[in-house]
Amino acid sequence: MAVFVCPRCAHRVAGAERAEGHQPRGCPKCGFGFVFEMMDDYYAGPLTALICCDRQRRVLVAGHSATPITGWPDGDLIGCEVAEALGLGFPGAADDPIARSLEWGVRVLQEPCTFRPYGVDEDRPAVADIFPAYDDDGGLLLALTPGMKE
Ligand SMILES: [Zn+2]
Repeated sequence: MAVFVCPRCAHRVAGAERAEGHQPRGCPKCGFGFVFEMMDDYYAGPLTALICCDRQRRVLVAGHSATPITGWPDGDLIGCEVAEALGLGFPGAADDPIARSLEWGVRVLQEPCTFRPYGVDEDRPAVADIFPAYDDDGGLLLALTPGMKE
């Protein structure tokens, strides 16, 4: 059973895998138009920002907690290159984890990173989870949780 996560409200929905058809059409809780397929169950905490991007890493949805965490005004992140807009840095990674996820279709979990909230002049520590999209459009879901890795 696949699990789908709503990028807007982080509600989890169980359903058939996309490949088998009958995936949930949208979020039954908040009515958002699509839900993101996860290979394994994933729980986004209240302070986890969920951001969907397209294959070119442009933000499609600045969803759950994205505004309070990133400081970006609602809607202004849409269309921005995600790593640039959020000032993302991955000091411990040998490569760019976003590129790795997009190119190889792999999940990147619990990757320590830094980001720079909108209008703030310093980097903040955070942990990134990156999930590749399984639909034909590609893209990814970035889950950004401020704070140090536990
Ligand atoms: Zn929802």
